[in-house]
Amino acid sequence: MGDQQLRSLYVLLGALIAGLLWMLVDAWRGYRVRSWLRHGDLAMAPQMSGWWGVVLDRARKLLRDRERNINAGEQRLKDFLSAIQASPNGVLMLDAQAQIEWCNQTAATHLGVHPERDVMQRVGNLLRDPIFTAYMAVENPVDPVVIAGHRHRMERPVLISVQRHRYGEGKQLLLTRDVTLLEQAEAMRRDFVANVSHEIRTPLTVMSGFVETLQTLPLTADEQKRYLALMAVQAVRMQGLVEDLLTLSRLEGSPVPNFLNTTPLMSLLKTCESEARGLSDVISQGAAAQIIQFEVNPLLGGASLMGEARELQSALSNLVSNAVRYTPAGGQIQVNVDQGIDGSLFIAVRDTGPGIAAEHLPRLTERFYRVDRSRSRESGGTGLGLAIVKHVMQRHGGSLSITSEVGQGSCFKLVFPSTRWCQPT
Ligand code: ADP
Repeated sequence: MGDQQLRSLYVLLGALIAGLLWMLVDAWRGYRVRSWLRHGDLAMAPQMSGWWGVVLDRARKLLRDRERNINAGEQRLKDFLSAIQASPNGVLMLDAQAQIEWCNQTAATHLGVHPERDVMQRVGNLLRDPIFTAYMAVENPVDPVVIAGHRHRMERPVLISVQRHRYGEGKQLLLTRDVTLLEQAEAMRRDFVANVSHEIRTPLTVMSGFVETLQTLPLTADEQKRYLALMAVQAVRMQGLVEDLLTLSRLEGSPVPNFLNTTPLMSLLKTCESEARGLSDVISQGAAAQIIQFEVNPLLGGASLMGEARELQSALSNLVSNAVRYTPAGGQIQVNVDQGIDGSLFIAVRDTGPGIAAEHLPRLTERFYRVDRSRSRESGGTGLGLAIVKHVMQRHGGSLSITSEVGQGSCFKLVFPSTRWCQPT
């Protein structure tokens, strides 16, 4: 073998070894790229040049984009869930087997389920209310159902409206809402309408009976007079009821009283006193009338109450007229005006009437609540007087307090805080 041939062989060998080495290095770089791609941690990406560098750059970019998309998706989901969490309504998601997938805290509180512990529990196993079970059995319910909430107690009802919607593949969405106040308001409205109808029907029935008698029976002039007088009593009673109803609706519908208006205390009391004496004379019909006394702390002689004169007058007149109506002849009615140690001004109406048993006291200001129905009616009561007083006092930032003892008498006190009355400047 000549020199020339030997050199060619060496060059070939050298090239072979270099190619082998290059392949080894390339395989090693490929192996590093593949190992990195297995976990794809961007922070651990190897640094390379050449083709593998280009591949790495592309992969890094793709991974970065994917990570950005995942983060944005996660953030959107988080925002979405926090929005549902913040909702005052409850949201509960069920899978195709009616198992809980997710619920917000409101739904959990409404229905008494645990947002984490009860995941994948069948909702029917957790809520055993028969109304709810029947509702879940309906294929496509249109209206929501109202069930007793988790914290429902007889003395403190909690009513929850549940509405079911289907979505996805056999999945269901339950929307819950606390409707306790709505249901209570609706019950109050129903009671109110029933009460008003009843109160109006009674005098109307009596009156139409008299009209029929007058039309069909040959009555003497005296008898006719007597029947007409009885009809007039019923008409006055209806008139009183309508007036009280209008007063209540005015109180509910009108804006907050203007506290820049002031009413002299003495003028309120004077009107009340003459009303009370007049009513007492009418009721006692010549028998010994009640003893009525008005006493005002001399320091308050010039004081004025802030707010609507008409409303304040109506509140005080209602208390005084109750005292007169419920106190038998010969009894005593005393109206005292004085100042409390906290700077408040109070008007106390005391009587020596029959008094009221303790169990009735918390309910006295409810509309149409009466301790003694027949007694209230006999004396021309509507059952709305104290409801009006309470409303007026609330609107004027004051309060009504009632103390009473059966057989001893009652005391109804209007209290005006120091910010709601003033002395002359
Ligand atoms: P009414 O028009 O029936 O008097 P009110 O709302 O003024 O209605 O009073 C509610 C109930 O409170 C009355 O029916 C009566 O039973 C009781 N009541 C109110 N004031 C007195 C009082 N001074 N003494 C005894 N009972 C009273």
